[in-house]
Amino acid sequence: MARGIGFSLKLAAVVIAAATAASAATPTAWFATATPPGLQNPPQLASIGNPVRAPAFKLPAGQTAEPEFAGSRIQRDLRAIVGFSDAMEATGVQFWGRISGYPSETAAANWFAAQLRSAGVKSVEVQTFDAAQPFWRPKTWEVRILADPAFGPGSADVILRSAVPTSGSKIDGAINAPLVFAGEAGDPVRVDVRGKIAIQHSRPTTGAYSDRSKIVQSTQALEAAGAVAVFNWVEQEGNMHVFDFASRGKPAFNLGGADGAFLKAVLGKAGARPVNARLTLDSEMATGLKAQNVIGVVPGLSTESVIVNAHLDSWFDGAGDNGDGVAVALALARHYAKAAAKPAKTLIFVGNAGHHSPGMNGATNLVRMNRPLLNTAVLVLNLEHVAQYQVRTDPWRVDPTEEPKNVGVSNMNLFLIDKITAAAARYGYTYNTMIDASVPGDLGGYAPLGVARVQGIHSGPLYHTSGDVVGSISVPGLERAAYFYRDFIDAVLAAPASLVNPPAAAK
Ligand SMILES: [Zn+2]
Repeated sequence: MARGIGFSLKLAAVVIAAATAASAATPTAWFATATPPGLQNPPQLASIGNPVRAPAFKLPAGQTAEPEFAGSRIQRDLRAIVGFSDAMEATGVQFWGRISGYPSETAAANWFAAQLRSAGVKSVEVQTFDAAQPFWRPKTWEVRILADPAFGPGSADVILRSAVPTSGSKIDGAINAPLVFAGEAGDPVRVDVRGKIAIQHSRPTTGAYSDRSKIVQSTQALEAAGAVAVFNWVEQEGNMHVFDFASRGKPAFNLGGADGAFLKAVLGKAGARPVNARLTLDSEMATGLKAQNVIGVVPGLSTESVIVNAHLDSWFDGAGDNGDGVAVALALARHYAKAAAKPAKTLIFVGNAGHHSPGMNGATNLVRMNRPLLNTAVLVLNLEHVAQYQVRTDPWRVDPTEEPKNVGVSNMNLFLIDKITAAAARYGYTYNTMIDASVPGDLGGYAPLGVARVQGIHSGPLYHTSGDVVGSISVPGLERAAYFYRDFIDAVLAAPASLVNPPAAAK
């Protein structure tokens, strides 16, 4: 969770929400339906640490512990990284994160560079680039469900605190319209949504990522059928912000679990009586934005290099996307920079502006701006989403382990796959055994280098939600990730380039 000012704001929000709920607890209001809480993390997250605990990290016999890999040390950096999101939230904005083009990402980049420098990494640069297109950002908004005396004495307007507009949404003035429940996202449109705000429901098997194309497509179908706006009720525990999906033309808002459940209950009890909502949104198409990448070098014995990449940007706290990856990248930078002997190949550490903000792709701009240096790379290793507790949705619970990562090796090189599976077994790094060539996420921008790209990534239920907080990250998992990646990097450093990129292999 956030600390300092951020924490007091969150605490205040909880207190206000509790007071609202208490005053609205008139048993007759809203057809005797309890009003939803404010923004709320899944209560299951409270089980982390007690009683749900990931296995302690065990160093294999004969190995020496590396102080920079201690879980508590890496977690301290994770807290610092998330602190840049908290600082943005503390300014009172409704939409926060380490957002490329805004001071929160700049601050994260400057901090990352300072950490690399004090670790002894050479030639550290913060590189600034221009956004290639305008960037949509929601500034303020309100989703207000309008009370009516017909709903029962004591009914007062309800503001849905989990609501977040989807990318591209725009409202001039306000939308006042009745709500209609349109059923499951992905099903054909079966109700009359003309002139109404259509609510579609989804209960993702993992997280927003798993339902993205379904929700985007059926949002378009509802708009085409005449809806004036769409609510995507993403049914998860708690009442989280979910920032994902997109809208073209008509505005759409994502709703968290409790807000959606409230609307479903009220619409069911209202029968033929209309339930109206009032939507406002002040968004901007920001131009002239600039984002930052950080690059630093640990010189090796040869000019061949290995790139170790982590994206700095995030929506909301982004502890698992990608604070954990950034923190582990720093641990590795400290490890290699302090070594008495030079590594066999040069290591290039990158903290980049990421891929969340259209027009500000960090990796693409990094490659464009550093081509001669990056042409020395034999492999790009991406640290992304490395150590979150495993959250299950069947039913919702936290398991005493880390999310299994989807390992991608772009050239499906068996030498690299063998090194990954051996290192994973050595340290208890969790992954899905189906390794394939797919490397979604931050590695796309590195494709022009034409060398092996490797990562282990997951997208669990907390993906792109306000529940992606420090408390959801496994401390022994951070340690497992650091040792796992260290061994993998060591294997690549020691290997001839032809073994990393066999001539016949795909890139
Ligand atoms: Zn990510």
